[in-house]
This record gives sequence, structure tokens and C-alpha cells, in this order.
Amino acid sequence: MIKEKPIPFYLANEMTSNQVKAGHKFFSQNTEFIKGIKSASDIPSGDYVEVCFSGRSNVGKSSLINNLTGRNSIARTSKTPGRTREINFFLIDNNKFLVDLPGYGFAKASSKERNQWITLVRDYFFQSQNLRRVFLLIDSRHGVKSSDINLMRLLGEAAVIFQVVFTKYDKVKDQEFKEVLASSFDKMACHANAYPEILVTSSRKKHGIEMLRATISELFSS
Ligand code: GDP
Repeated sequence: MIKEKPIPFYLANEMTSNQVKAGHKFFSQNTEFIKGIKSASDIPSGDYVEVCFSGRSNVGKSSLINNLTGRNSIARTSKTPGRTREINFFLIDNNKFLVDLPGYGFAKASSKERNQWITLVRDYFFQSQNLRRVFLLIDSRHGVKSSDINLMRLLGEAAVIFQVVFTKYDKVKDQEFKEVLASSFDKMACHANAYPEILVTSSRKKHGIEMLRATISELFSS
């Protein structure tokens, strides 16, 4: 039997000043909310390049998108429900999308709601020809959960690469985070579509935001 090599995950830790500048420049461009969709038939048409954000409900996705774009409420945080069951499209500089997927993993969801989520998200992954990468947000306190693994599988089926971004890093102690990383890396290791570089962020303390901005700007410029 051929044993698959585990993926050597590592934490992103250095950036050149040019990368920081490029990230700033990228996110100083005009960004606007275009639409929220409930059906894949409403995916905006056109030759857009896009990256996408996904994660469990309450992982801090809206806060991170607001931080990245420097706009306090472009993505609505959990306190104001509304767009949360939709895929939201944010247009940057008229030709690129940041795409915000509806959160998953909330205990109160009915099986009908779960099925609607899977259908919408699966269709989106399979239809999006110019999706460069999915940023999969994981809470630094909780690590990778079974619902995250389900998403990794779905992304694998659609041959989409995902990069893990830990959120709310301000909420964990160093030792606790080391343990979370070790168990998360174990769970991610069998997913060949996992990007090896891992990002660590805190929207509250503005930690890792520049690194994520630089990563996204590079993805759009390649
Ligand atoms: P979403 O459901 O994934 O969009 O999550 P939100 O961005 O709405 O955040 C959920 C909750 O976590 C809110 O109460 C936020 O204020 C809080 N939150 C988000 N990011 C951070 C962070 O970096 N640190 C801390 N301590 N709390 C955060």
C-alpha cells in the first residue's frame, strides 16, 4: 500500500515591505457589496476572478472581511442576521470578487436548512471557474471540527484549494494554541487540496490582517 505523505503545514510569519504595500494598495481600491444569492442560478455572470471565505457560524468571518476591507460594516456581523443564509458577493475594482459563504455548523439548523446550505455551496464550488482559493476560517480556541472536515471534503470533490486562517487568536494562550494547531494539522493532513501555509489572525487586535491582505493581493495578481 502506498502511504500518502502528510502535508508539511507551517505558519506564515514573514512578509517583505513590498508585499505589505501591495496588500494595502489592493484593499484601498473601491469595494462594494453587489448581491446576496440563495440559488446558484443567481451567481453573477462575467469574467470575474474571486476568492472566497468560509467557516462555521460565529467564527469571526464578517469581522475579518470588515477588517480586510477597512469598512466597519460591509459584511454584517452575527448580531444583525439577514444576509447570513446567502452567498454574498463583494466587488473590488470592478473585476474581482470577495465571496462570503453562509456560515455552517450551528446546532439549531434544521436538516432542511443544512441540505439547502450544501446544495447552494456545492453548486457554487462547481460553477465558479475563476475561484482562486477558499479561505477556511477556524476559531483558534476550537480547532478543526467535523463540520470543517465536511467542507474540506466538498472542496476536494470540486478540486478547489483551501487555506486555513485561524481567527480570534487574541482569545487563546500559547500552549492551548499549540495543541489546537497539532490536532488541526492532523485532521487536515489527508486533504491534498489544503494549502500548506497557515495564517493566524485576530480582528480585535488587528493581528495577521496585513499578511492576509498581502496573500489575497498576490492571488489576484498571479
Ligand atoms: P461570523 O458569524 O463568522 O460572521 O462572525 P462575526 O464576525 O459576526 O463574529 C462573531 C462574534 O465573534 C462577534 O461577537 C465578534 O465581535 C466576535 N469576534 C470576531 N472576531 C474576533 C476576534 O478577532 N477576537 C475576539 N475576541 N472576538 C471576535
